[in-house]
Amino acid sequence: MSIADLERFISDHRRLFVLTGAGCSTESGIPDYRDADGAWKRTGPMTFQTFIGDAHARQRYWARSLVGWPRFRRARPNGAHAALARLEADDRIELVVTQNVDGLHQVAGQRRVIDLHGRLDTVRCMTCGRTRSRDLLQHELLERNPQFAGLAAEDAPDGDADLDGVDFSTFDVPACDCGGILKPDVVFFGESVPRERVAAAMDALAGADAMLVIGSSLMVYSGFRFARAAAEAGKPIAALNIGRTRADHLLSLKVSASCAQALAFVLDAEPSSA
Ligand SMILES: [Zn+2]
Repeated sequence: MSIADLERFISDHRRLFVLTGAGCSTESGIPDYRDADGAWKRTGPMTFQTFIGDAHARQRYWARSLVGWPRFRRARPNGAHAALARLEADDRIELVVTQNVDGLHQVAGQRRVIDLHGRLDTVRCMTCGRTRSRDLLQHELLERNPQFAGLAAEDAPDGDADLDGVDFSTFDVPACDCGGILKPDVVFFGESVPRERVAAAMDALAGADAMLVIGSSLMVYSGFRFARAAAEAGKPIAALNIGRTRADHLLSLKVSASCAQALAFVLDAEPSSA
């Protein structure tokens, strides 16, 4: 189906519940996890169990994160984020629930956002729960590990970076002042999304007329459950995504196109009464 169908879907449904995924941020230069068939492009990502249980895995994680972070934090919103910010300003959006951890919806000016999987710009202690900024941790990582500062690597999702053939055993991983393990404040695979986030998102879905999926294959249950709940409530669902989604059988509209290009009509339109 065409972008004109998407335009009609958006104008026909006053209150939108929007779910965004990696495809919404690819045009900001943040790589996607999956290819068009929903299969992993690379080896699978870090799991919660591995991160907590394996000190060597944490050395590898933070070494790669040290290298990948500077580029990740420089990423800027693209046209898809701008279009959603415009729809929010026009009071068309009940809520954006994002599976992305980059905070780009907020940088684009959106306020009605739930970061379903957390934020990569924050680090949390697994013992005392104290948080600190990822930028502050970057200084500490560099101070402790100057030998890793100059390594170039191919960028990977979530501020990660591929470092082939590097020995991570000397990497000095900082701990919290309390001695606890520091973890990026994101939901790793194998970890549950906090219940209150899901409940708040479900409340917003109940108040929406329709669901719009942008740049997500919905392969992960944490996002798919909202499509299932929308379908059960009889709300129409449109998806803007390149490739198949896990909810294809539930969709009333599917558009396979670049997110920013397909939503450009939102920015081209005259501002609504404001
Ligand atoms: Zn602590």
